[in-house]
Amino acid sequence: MNRPVLIVEDEADIAEGLRYNLEREGLPVVVAETGEKGLAAALDRANPPCLVLLDLMLPGMSGTELCRRLRREPQTRRTPIIILTARGSESERVEGLELGADDYVTKPFSVRELVARVRAVLRRADESSSPVYEDARLRVDFENMAAVCEGVEVKLTRKEFALLAALARRPGRVATRNQLLDEVWGQQYYGDTRTLDVHIRRLRQKLGPCGEAIETVVGVGYRFTGFSSSDG
Ligand code: CA
Repeated sequence: MNRPVLIVEDEADIAEGLRYNLEREGLPVVVAETGEKGLAAALDRANPPCLVLLDLMLPGMSGTELCRRLRREPQTRRTPIIILTARGSESERVEGLELGADDYVTKPFSVRELVARVRAVLRRADESSSPVYEDARLRVDFENMAAVCEGVEVKLTRKEFALLAALARRPGRVATRNQLLDEVWGQQYYGDTRTLDVHIRRLRQKLGPCGEAIETVVGVGYRFTGFSSSDG
């Protein structure tokens, strides 16, 4: 049997709208109205979710607290999480991503867009352990620390490669500035956005035509979009 998508959302209208559309896509759904129920459903060994859609504004246990708990439990550590956040609440979004959410969608959202995000996150969950990222134009070999754009090798410093790898290991997902600083430079660099921005600029330059694979997400961080086959 297919594992369900777990929706943790106290607003019944939104939860039911999501249920209807996901079920229509052939994805079974479980709805929990509180964080506590969501945690229990996520840890249900008989019916573990393939993905959690998590509203951050919940009565009782907050969405961010639930996100933290899910990332701590061995059983749900790798379960993809998409958070639903209020428009304009950048700090909430950043916090959710730093707690380990895979992606976010801002309310009010289009259900079609959300379903597409769910599909994309589920697809990537299968691919994320791969030793190589490859698309129509760009190839990043994590083990051999090699990047090739349109058949030409790109010469990168260790830090530049580490930054590219940190991004390309989560294609389509937003990486916050602090996540990137932590992964590439270590925690003592938290908040040192200048270092990060300088390296991103240099990395984009060196990648030449493939520099577009790195998108700026204003106020949050960067997203590695890569290139679909239709791009080139
Ligand atoms: Ca809510």
